[in-house]
Amino acid sequence: MIRLERAALPLDTAARLKVYTRDIEQAAEPSRPDLAAHLWSHSTVRRRVRDGLLATLADMAPGHQRCMYCGDGQGTDIDHFEPKSLAPLRTFDWLNHLLACSYCNSNQKRNRFPRAEEGGGPLLLDPTLQDPLNHLRLVLPLCTYKGLTPQGEACIDVFGLNSRGVLVNGRRTAYGTAKQSIELWRIATDRGQHSKAAEVVRVAWDRPLADVLVGMFHQSGHPAAELLFSGEEETLGFLRDQELREAFLSRT
Ligand SMILES: [Zn+2]
Repeated sequence: MIRLERAALPLDTAARLKVYTRDIEQAAEPSRPDLAAHLWSHSTVRRRVRDGLLATLADMAPGHQRCMYCGDGQGTDIDHFEPKSLAPLRTFDWLNHLLACSYCNSNQKRNRFPRAEEGGGPLLLDPTLQDPLNHLRLVLPLCTYKGLTPQGEACIDVFGLNSRGVLVNGRRTAYGTAKQSIELWRIATDRGQHSKAAEVVRVAWDRPLADVLVGMFHQSGHPAAELLFSGEEETLGFLRDQELREAFLSRT
């Protein structure tokens, strides 16, 4: 999971969302969850809002429309951050929509929406509102996550960030290819091959599991970075290279 910027919706899509929210508001409170579910799955309603929502979410998502939760699977589903069964008035609320892969949406998150015992705030992270780096630490070279806060712990649990072998193994591969990318960038730049260097950066960010690259740069600034990158001193040197950091991080 990486920090994302929420984009503006096409005006016609935004206007239609408001109409459907008003329809739900006007229904008696006990019937709102059923009406929200009915409207969301209605073919006409979906046709009117789905394309605009999906296109805008796809533009916001990491890489080629990757899932905003796991960063790996293709983002095919519009996920309601706060499930519509719990918050029917947020069914057509743009600020409640994220792009998820069907596995995260249907197998992991489903209707789970844990809240803090104190204060009742959401425990899951919305990457368009919060920076996951403050809540989750990538443990290199294992490529598993450690929760730094109750929110980070909840995300690891709900999305299976450490229990899904395909994610952990994928992150290890992403770590290997990210190390190659930064080295390639340095070589290309030193040779004056600037378009090749720019291409290396573009490809690096377009790969699945961009959270690994984000985590590597972040941890290179950690006070215990020498320990975290033990045996990877060359990689740490590249990650701390100011010119390289600017080339890679100006894209995020
Ligand atoms: Zn996912």
